[in-house]
Amino acid sequence: MLFDVHPKTSITELFGRRAEYLSFIEAVEKRRNFFIITGPRRIGKTSFLYASLNELEKEYGIPYAVVDARAATSINSKYPQRIISERLYKALVSRGFVGGVVSKIKGIKIGGIEIETDEHNIDIVDILSAINEGNELAIIAFDEAQYLRFSNEDLTKLFAWVLDSLPNVILVFTGSQVGVLENFLRLEDGKAPLFGRYEVRINLPRFNPSESLEFLRRGFEEYSIRVNERELLPVVNTLDGVPGWLVHYGARRIDGLTHDEAIERVLNEAMKYVETEFEELDKLSPRYKIIMRIVARLSEGRGHARWDRIKNLAEEELEENIDEKSMRKYLSKLVDYGFLETIGYGKYRIPDPVMYRVFRR
Ligand code: ADP
Repeated sequence: MLFDVHPKTSITELFGRRAEYLSFIEAVEKRRNFFIITGPRRIGKTSFLYASLNELEKEYGIPYAVVDARAATSINSKYPQRIISERLYKALVSRGFVGGVVSKIKGIKIGGIEIETDEHNIDIVDILSAINEGNELAIIAFDEAQYLRFSNEDLTKLFAWVLDSLPNVILVFTGSQVGVLENFLRLEDGKAPLFGRYEVRINLPRFNPSESLEFLRRGFEEYSIRVNERELLPVVNTLDGVPGWLVHYGARRIDGLTHDEAIERVLNEAMKYVETEFEELDKLSPRYKIIMRIVARLSEGRGHARWDRIKNLAEEELEENIDEKSMRKYLSKLVDYGFLETIGYGKYRIPDPVMYRVFRR
């Protein structure tokens, strides 16, 4: 059911995302081993991940294990390696990993002596090596991977080792663009362990307005409810093609809320989410927030903001000069992460209406 508020787990339940799924399998066929699935919260990363992995397992026999990084870091935030190993072990036992792998881990050889180990006492390097040896290919995915940065050890070193030394292990990370790329994997940082690794990025975009309308129409149809598409248009314009919010709107209506009540409720939720999403970038520099507020103000009425005006107003607010290079860097990062878009040279706007509301308050 499209309005099911839980993540979808099969490709048949997934609305759209066909092109993204095909590029995922194509890259797996090419033996790429490093994937990053990004997009804002509630866009469907977890759903896409599980639906794709289940399909890859069914069609290609590639086993997988998913580690929810939020759980791995919340139970014992300092030592997520241990929790990751336990979760991988459990996944190995319960899923279709090659049988020998499990027994190999159960009796790990240390200095020639085989010792019995239990799931609470498994070294992550051993378990990853065993997966590599036991399977032609296996996928290990970290959902909401940005949380792994709270580990006391830099896990990116471990991941760099996996990518360089374990050819049968495919690593997949999901998360928000800023969180996972900028703050955790740090792929562009020349000194970071993962710098220079070849990654395949799958970015999940918002549904376009027609897709959103179709999504809502089909969702209501599944409950045999006929709705006027005209009534749905403001939902699409306000919630801007983020499937998670469309699902919530649908679920609230099904639960008896009126159109206005449902939209207000979901909009409030969405605005809170946008704020937390932006916190990641805010940690890098408070200037990003200032720039977003200025762009929102200048583009009032859904117009655009010119870059020289943005710069002037930002300098006024900060009471200091911002050199041109830094200003371009801030703006291009905001564009890269989809918080801003350019509409012609030096002109910017906030494409997401929910985000626009947050910064226009
Ligand atoms: P994320 O991991 O990006 O936060 P989720 O996968 O948890 O997003 O999805 C949020 C909500 O939206 C869930 O209720 C999920 O069922 C729904 N959803 C997301 N993408 C799709 C899709 N392509 N088709 C159907 N439902 C979707």
